Amino acid sequence: MYFIKNTILKQIKDTIGKAPIESGGILGLKDNVICAYYFDKGDFCKIDEYRPNIKKLNSVINEWGNKGISFIGIIHSHPNSYKIPSLQDCNYVDVLMKQNRFLEKIILPIVIIENNDVQIYYYEYLQQVKDFSSIDVLIME
Ligand SMILES: [Zn+2]
Repeated sequence: MYFIKNTILKQIKDTIGKAPIESGGILGLKDNVICAYYFDKGDFCKIDEYRPNIKKLNSVINEWGNKGISFIGIIHSHPNSYKIPSLQDCNYVDVLMKQNRFLEKIILPIVIIENNDVQIYYYEYLQQVKDFSSIDVLIME
């Protein structure tokens, strides 16, 4: 079971929630709480599919490491008819995990923007299972 800090949720809504579809960022976890977020500013976005450049984001991930926060996943927005990870997302995560064998799991929340409302659907990918499953993430004040 994961938790997400309300302040992080607000940051996500203020960035991805207001950016073009397929914008994204990375998430950091400490003690099962999603407590760090870095918006990718779209520098590495392709038009049709969000692709973070993990190498370029490594300085952020290292900085988190110094605070005991570990990289836990990638969050990005989709068109509102597509609330699940795409086939490209699955392939991307598969490659990412093969390159980073220390990662046992990744969470891949999908952000949907509908009528000015921002909804987040959470998925977890387990290295062992090699598939996504829907998960619950509780909001923490
Ligand atoms: Zn996607």
